[in-house]
Amino acid sequence: MNLRRPNASAATGTFNRSRSIVPMSGICSDCLDGCRGGCETWLASFRGREVIYPGPFGEITAGADKDYPIDYSHINIQGYAVGAVGLPEGVEAGPDTAVFPDVNTETEYGWSKKVKMQIPVFTGALGSTDIAMQNWEHFAIGAAITGITLVCGENVCGVDPALQLDRSGKVAKSPEMDRRIETYKRFHNGYGEILVQMNVEDTRLGVAEYVSSKHHLDTIELKWGQGAKCIGGEIKVKTLERALELQRRGYIVSPDPSRADIQAAFKDGAIKEFERHSRLGFVTYQGFMEEIDRLRDLGFKRITLKTGAYSMAELAMALRYGAEAKLDLLTIDGAPGGTGMSPWSMMNEWGIPTFYLQSLTYEFAERLSKRGFRVPDLAMAGGFSTEDGVYKALAMGSPYFKAVCMGRALMIPGMVGKNIQKWLEKGDLPKTVSKYGSRPEEIFVAYEELKARFGNDFRNIPMGAIAIYTYGQKLRTGLQQLMAGSRRFNLSTLSRKDLMALTEEAAYVSGIPYVMDAYRDEALSILDAR
Ligand code: SF4
Repeated sequence: MNLRRPNASAATGTFNRSRSIVPMSGICSDCLDGCRGGCETWLASFRGREVIYPGPFGEITAGADKDYPIDYSHINIQGYAVGAVGLPEGVEAGPDTAVFPDVNTETEYGWSKKVKMQIPVFTGALGSTDIAMQNWEHFAIGAAITGITLVCGENVCGVDPALQLDRSGKVAKSPEMDRRIETYKRFHNGYGEILVQMNVEDTRLGVAEYVSSKHHLDTIELKWGQGAKCIGGEIKVKTLERALELQRRGYIVSPDPSRADIQAAFKDGAIKEFERHSRLGFVTYQGFMEEIDRLRDLGFKRITLKTGAYSMAELAMALRYGAEAKLDLLTIDGAPGGTGMSPWSMMNEWGIPTFYLQSLTYEFAERLSKRGFRVPDLAMAGGFSTEDGVYKALAMGSPYFKAVCMGRALMIPGMVGKNIQKWLEKGDLPKTVSKYGSRPEEIFVAYEELKARFGNDFRNIPMGAIAIYTYGQKLRTGLQQLMAGSRRFNLSTLSRKDLMALTEEAAYVSGIPYVMDAYRDEALSILDAR
C-alpha cells in the first residue's frame, strides 16, 4: 500500500499523461518519448529547481497529501448519558443547567502570567510570505475580535522593503512590523495576544530589542522550526534588485544573484525568481538558556517556543529545556502542515506526523511530570481544521495541551472574506455566495452582531476579519456540542478517558484505550452487579 503518489500533484502544477502509474515512482507505466506534459520529472527537465516548490507562490497555501497510517480520525469521542462536570461553582447539574450553549470554551496559557483565549485555537505563524503580508489586516483584526492569539512569523523585519538599520546593523525602524503589531492591538479585547517569532536572522537584526522597546510586547517566541520543513523559512522574490538587497541583509539567496551568469539568465527570462532562505538553527542547552535570560532582561514577561516535527530527541529537548526555562507556551508542529513556501517533497516526506508527535509528547510530559518537573503549557499544530480535531487534541493531550495552533484552516476565512469584499465592490459575486444574498448583512451571519458590538469602529473591520470571527464561532459552537455530549462543560475537564481508539495500532501509538476495551470494567461491573 502506498501512502503517497509521487511525481505529480496539483501543488506543483503537474500531472501524469497516462492513467496507469507505477505506485512507487509515480512514473507513467507507459512513459512516452514525445510526451508533451507533464509530471514533475517532465517539468523539472527544463524548469529544474523551480518544480521543488508548490505554486504559484503568494497565491496558494499548500498542505502535503501523504496519507499517514494513523491520524485523528482513528480516534472517536466518548458520549455519556450520565452526569456533567465543569459547570460553574454552585450550579447543580440537570437538564436546565447543563445546556450546550453554556459550555465554556475559554482556555489560558502561561507559566505565571496567564493569557486567556475565548476559543482554544490560535493562528499559525504568519511571517514574511506574500500571503501573510497581503492578508494581514484581515488575519490580525479577525484574530483580535475572535479573542485568540495571533502569531507574527519570522523574517518580517528582514524583508521589510522600508527597513532602516542603525549603525550596528540592528533594526531602527520597520514600518511593516509596526503595521502588523498596531493592527492587532487596535482591536485587541483582552483575550489573546500577538506573539512575534524570532529565528537566526531576526536575532541578528535585533528584532526582540525593537518590538520590546518600541511596542512593549509582553511575549516573544523563539523558533526552532515548523512542521512544513526542516530548514529555515523561505520566500520567493521577483526582482534582481530585491534579491541583491536581501543577500546584502544576510540572507541566503538562491540562485546567487551576485553571479554574472545568474544575472544573465534572469535577464534572458529563464530565471524568473529568486529564493530567500533562512539559516539553520543550532540548539544547545547553554545557548537556549542564555537566550531566555537575555530576552527576560530585555523586559519580556512571557517567552514561548515553537518547534517542528524533529526527531524524538529534539522533542525531549524542547520539553526538558522548556520546563527548566519556565516557558509560557510550547507549540509543537507536526508534519505535514505548511502555509508558505516549503519544498513539496520535504513537506510530504520529512518529520514525525502530528498524531505520532502528540502521542510522544504526552508520553514525555508524563515522564517529566512524574519526575517532579512542571511541564510548560503545550499547543499542537499540524493539519487541524475542525472542532472535533481540537477536541481530540486537547483531550488526548490532557492535562498538558491548552490549545491548537491552526495554520492553513484559519487563513481560509481571511481570504474568503477579503474576496467577498472584492466581489461585492465589482458586482461579481459567484453564485456560491450570492445564493445567500447580495449585501454583506445577508451574507455574513455575524454581521449584525459585530456591528452592534463595535459601533462606529465597525467600518474599520474588513470582511476577512468578519469571516474569521464567523468561522471561529462555528468552531466554538461545534466544540460546545461535542463537549456537552461528553458532559464536559469546561475545557479543563476534558480527559483521555473521553476518547477511544478505533484501531489497535492507534491505541498502541497513543495509549488511548481500544474501543473494545474502553470502559469495559465499568460496563462489566454493572452487568455483574448482584
Ligand atoms: S514524461 Fe510524460 S509520459 Fe513520462 S511519466 Fe511523465 S507524464 Fe508520464
